[in-house]
Amino acid sequence: MNLNLVKNIGPKTEKMLNKINIFSVEDLLTYYPYKYNIIKFVDIDKTLNNETSYILATIISNVKISYIRNNFNKLSFIALNNNIHFNVVIFNRAFLKKQLIINRKIVLVGKYDKLKNVFSASNILFNIINNRIEPIYHLTDGIKNNHLENYISEAIKLNCVIDDFVPDIFNKKYNLLSKQNAIKLIHQPKCIVDIKMSKLKLIYEELFIYMFKVNYLKQINQSAFGVAKTIDLNFIEEFLSNLSFKLTIDQDKVIKDILNDMQNAKRMNRLVLGDVGSGKTIVAIIALLANYTSGFQGAFMAPTEILAKQHFESIINYFENYSINVKLLTGSLTKKNKEKIYDELKNGKIDIIIGTSALLNSSAIFSNLGLVITDEQHRFGVNQRSLLQGKDSMQKCDALYLSATPIPRTLALTIYGDLSLSQIKTKPSMRKKIITKIIDEKNIKDMLYKMISELKCGHQMFVVSPLIEQNDELDINSVYLLKEKLSRAFKNKAIIEILHGKLKQKEKDELMIKFEKGEIDILISTTVIEVGIDIPNATMMIIYNAERFGLATLHQLRGRVGRNNLQSYCYLITNDLNNARLKVMEESDDGFFISEKDYEQRGQGDLFGIKQSGDLIFKIADFNRDYKILMQAKKDSEYYLEQLLYKENPLYKDIIDKINFLD
Ligand code: ADP
Ligand code: MG
Repeated sequence: MNLNLVKNIGPKTEKMLNKINIFSVEDLLTYYPYKYNIIKFVDIDKTLNNETSYILATIISNVKISYIRNNFNKLSFIALNNNIHFNVVIFNRAFLKKQLIINRKIVLVGKYDKLKNVFSASNILFNIINNRIEPIYHLTDGIKNNHLENYISEAIKLNCVIDDFVPDIFNKKYNLLSKQNAIKLIHQPKCIVDIKMSKLKLIYEELFIYMFKVNYLKQINQSAFGVAKTIDLNFIEEFLSNLSFKLTIDQDKVIKDILNDMQNAKRMNRLVLGDVGSGKTIVAIIALLANYTSGFQGAFMAPTEILAKQHFESIINYFENYSINVKLLTGSLTKKNKEKIYDELKNGKIDIIIGTSALLNSSAIFSNLGLVITDEQHRFGVNQRSLLQGKDSMQKCDALYLSATPIPRTLALTIYGDLSLSQIKTKPSMRKKIITKIIDEKNIKDMLYKMISELKCGHQMFVVSPLIEQNDELDINSVYLLKEKLSRAFKNKAIIEILHGKLKQKEKDELMIKFEKGEIDILISTTVIEVGIDIPNATMMIIYNAERFGLATLHQLRGRVGRNNLQSYCYLITNDLNNARLKVMEESDDGFFISEKDYEQRGQGDLFGIKQSGDLIFKIADFNRDYKILMQAKKDSEYYLEQLLYKENPLYKDIIDKINFLD
């Protein structure tokens, strides 16, 4: 349903809602609150210092307005609650003056300073309500929480039909709310039980769908036979003996697993989980080589253009002495060049192709594709798992996935249940441990000196902030503010650039290439640089407001440095010096250890990068927190699949068609 059907949403509001990915009434209804404020009125003398309180008060004086400067005014009056007179101040609400009349009852939201007898209000509410639960949403510029609440409440009144993906048998079995009801209550709970019940339904639904897809893929994979490949093992041996390093024990083992799979007639579907810097690329390269010796084409897909280029260059290097035709296919190639590559793919001239999701383009037809490798698999969705393989009409294609999300094994076995699993735990031994330190925001000077000495050695560094632009309500150094500050500190001694998600993909790629070439000394960015890029000359990762990031993100970010034999550093800047997550970071650089800790600390985890990606973006579920529900959903979806119950449910026909690319 179109957003303009919702009362109070005009074209301007619609645009702003689009920014938070709300394009339809359904999107709006499934834009869930991330937390709730429990509004409970207290008396003014019972308020706690520095805690937001709700006070039911009566206005007993005229309102005074002072205009402090342009766009900035202060409103003050005296109010009464529980026989106590106190002053109220609120900023930038001059427009409320007409409504603030003597004897009117209002609700004040804010903090009370007992000594000064002043209540600093952040909001004033007029429709006096009883105690209530207020949903809190992630917002965007121009849309306030109460606006969003209002749009959603209008949308609920439209009574639009929203598909319930939970099969009836499970709705009954667990006494789940109807979807309609769950949506209403998640936005308008009357009590804690409403929140619990609506969340349970919506979380279960998301996890059920997810696990259904995984189990469906697993079923397909189990019966998928390809060809047993004949690999020239001597060729591989020789290649390995010419490498400038020796494989780690785990790399060796994983390669054996892969070669075994490929020699077997059953199609390979293997996931290699290895921490950042554990050396997954060489494993992929050897798989490509083995596939090549058996006479098939191979494809290696990366989530970004720059990463694809990096892989391409290193592969060209490795294959220098072989006559293997390796090509790069990315979205930015000219049409003519793309077509040339399509031709060569089709007539079998290309042996190995590296690329981005441009490889998924329907014009990219292979003559005899035998292996598809997906790097940083967690960036793609479940649906894409079958896509590249589907390119091969005979379905003989082996698939290998690489991922730097070192999640606990039991969890991995569930959420990647359709794949065989290999782990790389050991890291190449020559690597120096990255020195990680928590830095008090107040002692930033020491760090600036360290930055200078690193810059003097000609090394580069990343600086990361959680925010792009400054927000007055948050005490955070945004990307733009940091650029200002660091430019002042380093004057012309360093070339500083900024990179963030609002830039166009092309601009981002250009910046990364400049950084890679050493034309930028300090790259200030949001977390967009997370993915497996290799800048060996970068030796410092500085993370501002580090307490705001989850362990997974912190670990991924740190993995951007220390990718060589230089000593590297990671500084976690914070004013929360006792933060448990940051301490874990100081303690360890082992992704698997950190993921276990993440798991233990629950609630604050952003479980190893998997949230940000493809199908694994959940609106409400969280693998970590909702582990029990996940396990139940796994069992239930298996039953649903085995008993063929899904065949009677049109919603699941759609899901399956999507997986099989029939739509
Ligand atoms: P990731 O697992 O994060 O993708 P890469 O495959 O990019 O890691 O490897 C990081 C670096 O380590 C590369 O420069 C690679 O050449 C190097 N490397 C990989 N395996 C070994 C090894 N066994 N010994 C030494 N260096 C290695
Ligand atoms: Mg990698």
